[in-house]
Amino acid sequence: MIRTRMEQSESKEAPEAKVSSDLLIDGPRIEGYDEDDLVNKCVKVDHFVCAICHNIARNPKGCPSEHLFCEDCLVGWGRNTCPTCRVVVEKPIGIDHSRYVKEDYLSMTTKCRFHGRGCDKVLHLGPEIEKHEMECGHAYMHCSYGCEVRNLKRAEYENHQKECLHRPFSCECGVTIMFKDRGSHNRTCPKFEIRCNECQATMKREALAAHKSVNGNCPKTRIPCPIEGCRWHGKREDFHAHERSAALEHVRLLHKAAEEKNADMLKKMSEMQKAFDAMSTKHARMESVAFPPFKIEGATYKPGVNGTYFVDLSKGRVRGKPVWKRRCAPNALVPETEWFVFYSKSSYWMITSTERCIKESKCMFYSEAKNLDFPFEAKKWKNNSKRTSDTANWSDDNDIKITEVGTSDLDIDDLPPLPPPPPIDFTEVGTSDASASTDDLGINFDWESWESDA
Ligand SMILES: [Zn+2]
Ligand SMILES: [Zn+2]
Ligand SMILES: [Zn+2]
Ligand SMILES: [Zn+2]
Ligand SMILES: [Zn+2]
Ligand SMILES: [Zn+2]
Ligand SMILES: [Zn+2]
Repeated sequence: MIRTRMEQSESKEAPEAKVSSDLLIDGPRIEGYDEDDLVNKCVKVDHFVCAICHNIARNPKGCPSEHLFCEDCLVGWGRNTCPTCRVVVEKPIGIDHSRYVKEDYLSMTTKCRFHGRGCDKVLHLGPEIEKHEMECGHAYMHCSYGCEVRNLKRAEYENHQKECLHRPFSCECGVTIMFKDRGSHNRTCPKFEIRCNECQATMKREALAAHKSVNGNCPKTRIPCPIEGCRWHGKREDFHAHERSAALEHVRLLHKAAEEKNADMLKKMSEMQKAFDAMSTKHARMESVAFPPFKIEGATYKPGVNGTYFVDLSKGRVRGKPVWKRRCAPNALVPETEWFVFYSKSSYWMITSTERCIKESKCMFYSEAKNLDFPFEAKKWKNNSKRTSDTANWSDDNDIKITEVGTSDLDIDDLPPLPPPPPIDFTEVGTSDASASTDDLGINFDWESWESDA
């Protein structure tokens, strides 16, 4: 019975020998055959005893007197003499030279050298037994996973590999560990199934934190009521009960919150308005610094031309510069006409009382010199009208003084009182027809020719 089992396991393991020969602990036989292991001995068995290892010689070689030794023992002897008779042997003689010797030798059988471990194979000396021993299931091997198993037989190798505690184990988390280390790995593995200590639900470790968080789904986690102003704080599983019992209170709180939000918004809007106003004021102030008020003196053409002029952005800009306007003080003698001063399209300083002139950047009275910077003394003001009959040129009025008043953005009430208009002698202005030059200041311009003149 035993023999049958062994034969079966040996026949199965034979191909495996190739795979794992590096791992063999029991390598090929080196010494001769133990005489005690021989099953069939020839009559001349003593003739084959190696005088070096005292076993039956393996690959017997010897001197011409047929003193035989194991081939390996003879190599180990290291001299070219026979260890027994000391004759010089140039080339050791094998058993092939004598058919009888060879037949005697090969007629002997021996147990497998692993018979002590249970192998019951008995085979002829030489290649037959040695081939078997290299494939014998009772030879010891190392485990390829490096475990420290002892006396691992070739026949048991395959099964051992399947169960070896050092075999690789690919964890779901992507890490490869030794099978035996799963326990310690599982203590930290994110994919290991664990139980929530609060609600006893099972989940992978990596999901636990989210499960127990305020936004998770553990019924035992304490959460705050999401309604703003509600002070309830309790287990998630109790929230529905709270929702039911506090429904009215919740409605009240939501309403309150909405009102507060509205008030907040209004407050923000009023703050924005204030900021906007402040910005406008600042802007206006900056304008008045960049474009200071100025004063025109000495003009005799019309009453009301003289006076203090302020930037008036409501009229827009002409050539990037603002329009100045003479403000009429409440109790001025001639308050009814507003005069504008601006820097025209054709780089002259212009004075007009007609807003249309500003819009079209055309002029009624213009200074002779171009590119005048403020402040300046303006000479030879001219009426651009072609109506020469009016002698509308203001040329005699050549010493108008325009001087800076200051950089403040004084309110109109803070202004110094307007000087009384200078006495106007209309006869000075033109050569004739004073009424023509004193009628409404919208003199009939020839706009086209003004433009081409410019
Ligand atoms: Zn020997
Ligand atoms: Zn000899
Ligand atoms: Zn064997
Ligand atoms: Zn192993
Ligand atoms: Zn893992
Ligand atoms: Zn839980
Ligand atoms: Zn609540």
